[in-house]
Amino acid sequence: MKSAVIGYPRVGKLRELKFASEKYFRGEITEKALEETGKNLRCEHWCLQRDAGIDYISSNDFSFYDAMLDTAVLLNAVPKRYTDLKLNRHETYFSMARGYQSVQGDVKAFAMKKWFNTNYHYLVPEIYDDTKLGLSGSKPFDEYKEAKAIGIETKPVVIGAFTFLRLASYNGRKNAGDFMEDIIQSYRDILSSFDQLGTQWIQFDEPALVTDLSKEEVTRFVTLYKEILKGKSNIKVLLQTYFGDVRDCYRELTSLDFDGIGLDFLEGKKTLELITANGFPEDKILFAGIVNGKNIWKSDYKKTLELLNKIKKYTKNIVISTSCSLLHVPYTVENEAKLDSGILQRFSFAKEKLRELRELSVLAEREDFEAACEYLDNRRIFEADRLYGDKKVQADISKLSEEDFTRKTDRKEREQLQKKQFKLPLLPTTTIGSFPQTPEVKKNRSSFRKGEIDQTEYDKQVFAFIEDCIRRQEELGLDVLVHGEFERNDMVEFFGENLAGYVFTDKAWVQSYGTRCVKPPIIFGDVKRIRPITVKYSEYAQGLTRKPVKGMLTGPVTILNWSFPREDVSLQDMAYQIGLAIREEVCDLERAGIKIIQIDEAALKEKLPIRREEWYSEYLDWAIPAFRLCHSRVKPETQIHTHMCYSEFEEIVKDIDNMDADVISFEASRSGLTIIGALQAKHFETEVGPGVYDIHSPRIPAVEEIVQALQKMLEKIDKNKLWVNPDCGLKTRDISEVDASLKNLVNAAKRVRTQL
Ligand code: GLN
Ligand code: ZN
Repeated sequence: MKSAVIGYPRVGKLRELKFASEKYFRGEITEKALEETGKNLRCEHWCLQRDAGIDYISSNDFSFYDAMLDTAVLLNAVPKRYTDLKLNRHETYFSMARGYQSVQGDVKAFAMKKWFNTNYHYLVPEIYDDTKLGLSGSKPFDEYKEAKAIGIETKPVVIGAFTFLRLASYNGRKNAGDFMEDIIQSYRDILSSFDQLGTQWIQFDEPALVTDLSKEEVTRFVTLYKEILKGKSNIKVLLQTYFGDVRDCYRELTSLDFDGIGLDFLEGKKTLELITANGFPEDKILFAGIVNGKNIWKSDYKKTLELLNKIKKYTKNIVISTSCSLLHVPYTVENEAKLDSGILQRFSFAKEKLRELRELSVLAEREDFEAACEYLDNRRIFEADRLYGDKKVQADISKLSEEDFTRKTDRKEREQLQKKQFKLPLLPTTTIGSFPQTPEVKKNRSSFRKGEIDQTEYDKQVFAFIEDCIRRQEELGLDVLVHGEFERNDMVEFFGENLAGYVFTDKAWVQSYGTRCVKPPIIFGDVKRIRPITVKYSEYAQGLTRKPVKGMLTGPVTILNWSFPREDVSLQDMAYQIGLAIREEVCDLERAGIKIIQIDEAALKEKLPIRREEWYSEYLDWAIPAFRLCHSRVKPETQIHTHMCYSEFEEIVKDIDNMDADVISFEASRSGLTIIGALQAKHFETEVGPGVYDIHSPRIPAVEEIVQALQKMLEKIDKNKLWVNPDCGLKTRDISEVDASLKNLVNAAKRVRTQL
């Protein structure tokens, strides 16, 4: 059996591309040096795959920033504001990715969005009425030739026409339907150019096919490919999908003239069912995505081979493949020197997955595979006990009842009790939690990590930062204070470090966008709280002031969504385990005299399933309860806040209400105030603090500007329910910006109060 890889990570195993790009941006290295880094990485990645015995290796999966951006450039969709800058090819490209500011001009970058249900972000191509799509670049051809020159025949990968048109933004009167002819011609030209190079296979990535599709969209997909495929002569075309199944277009997809179809058998819950019900065409090759491209665990060969056997009943022409690009996993476990081998042996990052593909492709053809060493070694790992299994945690989860998810007193009554207790003015002012992470704050943490100072010394410093922060907020006249979050740099890692069941890596970076990489912690076993996490800091802060100071926690759904999850228990179980750990912390904070507790769910919206019909059954039905689990035990007087980063939750407004928090703050100023209309229309009950200014920009908002934002909000939101706060935490800003902005915020609130 042959094997294929949809795409390989590209930042480099030690993030070489990130560092080279950043140097290039700062003008420290030349364009040529940056090109050279790219070339070396491509070569390294191809050779790795060849040496691992992979048969279908991708090219053009490399990018200096993002593949959607590359495709926009390839199709000549470069908006005029960039060409007007008259920069060279590279600089134009990066100006689209990052914006550009100099005497030559000042232009904004493309918008950035989450790539389906991953934490990777793509750049959103912009299409205008006068955009003339046409094949205009040579990147895929150059990279194909580059691989060929070192003796490797690759399958170039290009984002498909359907996905490109679906994800692009249309900025005039025209829409996707108006660009069909041109895009068809462009893709035909791509096919014929590769044909001339003698390329054997090309891969068109069409992940948009796994989303909910209307009839019109299915028709558009069919029209596109009927026409595009007329352009192929010798080259074979693989239509690749991932992140789900193609339930809305399986029949259409399989009746088109593709030579190979790539389907995801892991995230695609219905993929096997589709094949079982409809069969798979004999004249095509099935690229079966069976090695997980998103998680970091070794495949369980027994399960994978069973799955393969089922698939074999419907077709003999199978190539085994990753379920999606390996872009979403780190490079290799070889970089992890600190983790013990009992843990490491269960991991499989990109490089290790190549070996799995190879081993599986051999085992899949052996009658006696159960006797093979590779198989037996793999069995041994899966038959061994989990290292961090915890019977007590498991029992606690199974005992949970409705009561654990429900606050005893209902919202209205709580609201009264809380108003009486806090005596806050109308439009109370507050912040989201973090204050600037100054060089001193960072220095303190790094000295502690390096062992240069001990816990007592470290805490002494943190307490000093807290005191300064409290004084500052009192001077500003804020109503509800925060301690400033100086003890943490990351809202998930910090909690993970105080929870059993978590494992941290050294170099397991995954690209999030452009040069930015993240290193998600790994949930390895049952999760429980090891020790109080934030209590001493919050208690100290509250002791300094008569005003309420919010306790500040990260919620279970966000902790889970920003970690690599286990595969041997359900997401629900993990969320509930984390929820119980956070509940202990909540109860300790309450006992320590903290009267307002904020539980951030910044990433709640992120993992909402791609398919609407799965929103509840697969996600919200446990995600919302997991949050409630954290605060169900608190007294009615204790006020629970939450925070979400993006306000794009119009469609799940009622579910957000169901979290049963007393107050929610969220980012609103950048995304316009559209959400507020939805809150009003759907009778949102939670008190709200829509951010009144954007903290991602160094701009200081004027009092008048904030006054206007508040007045607009008051048209739709009851004055008794409105809070005043910035969009998000202030950790990335500097102190002078924060002081000036918050001063204006407080003054704006005061001014508007007098008008009420
Ligand atoms: N409490 C966190 C902070 O203020 C929230 C961060 C976030 O929403 N991403 O930094
Ligand atoms: Zn936020």
